[in-house]
Amino acid sequence: MQKSQPIRMCIACRSRHPQHTLIRLKQEGNDVIAYNGTGRSFYVCEKCSKNEKKVKGLVKRFRLDQERFVKLLMEMTPPVSSCGVPHLNEGVNI
Ligand SMILES: [Zn+2]
Repeated sequence: MQKSQPIRMCIACRSRHPQHTLIRLKQEGNDVIAYNGTGRSFYVCEKCSKNEKKVKGLVKRFRLDQERFVKLLMEMTPPVSSCGVPHLNEGVNI
């Protein structure tokens, strides 16, 4: 039997997923950035990070700059084979 892994909820669609499959972010001031070990974090699932409607919802919710937020999500999403250019691994381990 496998040990139960931590399950976290995506704030955009409220579905629950294993923590390691989610994108972890945090709110800092008026901005949302990659979680850096301090403060309160929240999770967005990969599906929502690619769903324009959900992203827009989050942008509204946090009053973000959409372009920057989308870029952040893309940076945090694991590289996908359909995209030719591999993303740099920033070495953010949770
Ligand atoms: Zn989601």
